[in-house]
Amino acid sequence: MRITDIDTMLLKVRLENEIADSINRVSYIGLPLVKISTDDGLEGWGYSWNTAGGSEFAKELLDRYMAQSLLGKDPLRRKQLVHELFFVENFGWDFRLGRNGLAVMAASMVDMALWDLLCKRAGLPLWRVLGGFHDRIEAYDTHGGWLSWTTEELVSNAKKKVGVEGFRAIKVKVGSPDPEVDYERLNAVRAAIGSSTKLMVDANTKWDLETALRWCRRCRDLDLYWLEEPLNPLDIRGHAILRSKVDIPIAVGESLHNIYAFRDYIEQGAADILQADSTKVAGITEWLEVANLAEAFGLNIYPHTNIQQPLHVQLAASCKNSFVVEHVPWLLDVWKHPLVPRQGYFELPESPGAGTEVRADALEKYAVG
Ligand SMILES: [Mg+2]
Repeated sequence: MRITDIDTMLLKVRLENEIADSINRVSYIGLPLVKISTDDGLEGWGYSWNTAGGSEFAKELLDRYMAQSLLGKDPLRRKQLVHELFFVENFGWDFRLGRNGLAVMAASMVDMALWDLLCKRAGLPLWRVLGGFHDRIEAYDTHGGWLSWTTEELVSNAKKKVGVEGFRAIKVKVGSPDPEVDYERLNAVRAAIGSSTKLMVDANTKWDLETALRWCRRCRDLDLYWLEEPLNPLDIRGHAILRSKVDIPIAVGESLHNIYAFRDYIEQGAADILQADSTKVAGITEWLEVANLAEAFGLNIYPHTNIQQPLHVQLAASCKNSFVVEHVPWLLDVWKHPLVPRQGYFELPESPGAGTEVRADALEKYAVG
């Protein structure tokens, strides 16, 4: 089998309503795509995404530097091919981009597409190729926990999610200018969902250490399941100090771009829960490496997921230390095989592939340029 074609595309999907967390206002998803074709007629799909400008640069990196290095190669030599992407034109070292940011995001698209090809060649879904561990995956809901929603909207949504839709876990965004406002909002949600529903919170890197410490002390009686990204993700030491002084479990990972960053968080005792994202590290391959590393240190990994449930549910299903995946109902009309939780659980897909393929009509509807 040889790679015969690399097609890249860029989609822009507007959200029905703009939402906000503590640092972002989000009105659309930018979705760069790659389709890798082979001489035996298979197509593998990979993607990255962003909630702000810049997605086009991952596509640009693929088009200008990376794609040509793949043509004619054996797609089953995935590790070698993805490794070499970081050294095309020497940009891996010359610009110190090699294992961070956009270069990793572009490489992750290729890694994902090569896994998708492998699964399709085997005629199996990714979770079966990886040796499935779980029968289904619990979903937690974030859509409705936005910082831009009023307390009344939060509470009525939380009641619906738990009472009607059957979720047993929901996440609420925090980081209001006045921490007391966060406390009142969370207190109202906790009262609405009862003590048996998991309640997570996400600060989206907003705070400094002092603010995070004060916030955690104020909110300690809310029985929070985790506090996500309280500080600048580069400040591992700050996370370690925070974790040593508060009882709320600390979760990080969606802003970390390589296994070395995860190793340093683990080694410094700076996190309780890891949230690696296969579109932010170098694809499925590096995500699995992080998951294995976490397991060896007795930590669980709950993949960060705003849009990539069809892929990340399958990753979670393959790992003993991963059993909860986030649900945000964006891009359901983009994926060829979307996953929607029922009564709080994602069932595992049986369609061959990694869950990365995009519908043909979505390509027409959302294409940029
Ligand atoms: Mg988050």
